[in-house]
Amino acid sequence: MADLVATHCPVCHSVTDHDHYLSRGGYLHSLCTNCGKDISSSERVESGEPQPVTKHCAVCGVDTAHVRYLSTTGYLHWLCLSCGKDVRSSANVQ
Ligand SMILES: [Zn+2]
Ligand SMILES: [Zn+2]
Repeated sequence: MADLVATHCPVCHSVTDHDHYLSRGGYLHSLCTNCGKDISSSERVESGEPQPVTKHCAVCGVDTAHVRYLSTTGYLHWLCLSCGKDVRSSANVQ
């Protein structure tokens, strides 16, 4: 089943359906099903496919869908599914 997330697209300049998927290499992606913009996480995802949470993105300037994930290197990340900005914790998560 497609896992569509309605979030802002910086290319379309509107809210569009994004297909949020895990690549074969273990990276989290978000594909705009309208224009084809495809962003990916900066690190591999340790486990599962996290559920998106809506919060403000400083880069997008609007509320967008984000996913919180744990990378294989043990850091906590927040990835904006709209622009691909990936924030990482400074320390390893226990
Ligand atoms: Zn788009
Ligand atoms: Zn963003």
